[in-house]
Amino acid sequence: MKKHNFSAGPSILADEVISKASKSVIELNNIGLSLIEISHRSPDFVAIMEKARELSLELLNLDKEKYTALFLQGGASLQFLMSAYNLLETKAAYINTGSWSDKAIKEAKLLGEVHEIASSKSKNYNHIPKNILIKNDYDYLHITTNNTIYGTQFHEIPNTNIPLVADMSSDIFSRNVDFSKFDLFYAGAQKNLGPSGVTLVVVKKEILGKVSRNIPSMLNYLIHIDKDSMFNTPPVFPTYVCLLTLEWLKNNGGLDAIEKLNNYKAKLIYDEIDRNKAFVGFAEIEDRSLMNATFNLVNGVDGKKFNELCLKNNISGIKGHRSVGGYRASIYNALPIESVEILIDTMKKFENLI
Ligand SMILES: *Cc1c(COP(=O)(O)O)cnc(C)c1O
Repeated sequence: MKKHNFSAGPSILADEVISKASKSVIELNNIGLSLIEISHRSPDFVAIMEKARELSLELLNLDKEKYTALFLQGGASLQFLMSAYNLLETKAAYINTGSWSDKAIKEAKLLGEVHEIASSKSKNYNHIPKNILIKNDYDYLHITTNNTIYGTQFHEIPNTNIPLVADMSSDIFSRNVDFSKFDLFYAGAQKNLGPSGVTLVVVKKEILGKVSRNIPSMLNYLIHIDKDSMFNTPPVFPTYVCLLTLEWLKNNGGLDAIEKLNNYKAKLIYDEIDRNKAFVGFAEIEDRSLMNATFNLVNGVDGKKFNELCLKNNISGIKGHRSVGGYRASIYNALPIESVEILIDTMKKFENLI
């Protein structure tokens, strides 16, 4: 029996996606060959890459003349460096809302001056800083839209007059915002899009080519764009799984529909966290993430029985990150409402035992 998968990453994908992906490993599109044993230059794979790039922009409602989508390697962690390599000439502004922001800052510092213009670090990242003054003399502002570990999320995208760069690894394609506010954003696929091994990068072409440094080919967005996201052999299988997820999203009503569902699932779980006497939410209520719900045991409550109940009810992956403790229910796009209901039921049963 399949478990209720609340893993923070790599994470749950739609059943339909997993099933089509498995078939492609045996044979792709009735061509008598497996997806993973054909040339990435073959018409069948070129079509996959092109469709994945196009459908990404279509779902995000971005102008194809202005923006381009790339499927690259190296994870979001390489994008911490690569975005700075391509955009940071003198100084950049970063908002620090968690360990991932912290890591992005560390990489950017290798290339120029970095100003941390706001941070929630002193409160263990339990909120999103507000009313931030963003001056115009930075090359760009970098934010992390959803903080996977702490369970906070930007519900309002900052308005800037400078390019806006974002790590969207854990909330990409989960909601419909005005993505044209961003000039560059990236997401490791393994949270809400596909398997690990591929990273989606969406970039507004006009912001590129402005820094004076020499950029190594593999780190140069312009080279990847020029080569249609196939400068070197792309991760063919992960990219195909991303395409299947994008098609699944489109067939189910796109970002508006998934946002509605995600709001509904998040409300169910947070209502229970707030009602239940055994648990307390970690993040400030107004900044709560729709993707990762973090909660702790109320002081003095022993979680042993809850862990046993979770095991019994086939609930997997809700242990909190070590820097927050407690629990984290990751409720990504593909997680069914039924799994949320089982978790809530388990929380109620536990409350009756304490
Ligand atoms: C998981 C995660 C990362 C790290 O992604 P990799 O692909 O492993 O480098 C970065 N940022 C956020 C917000 C994440 O959730």
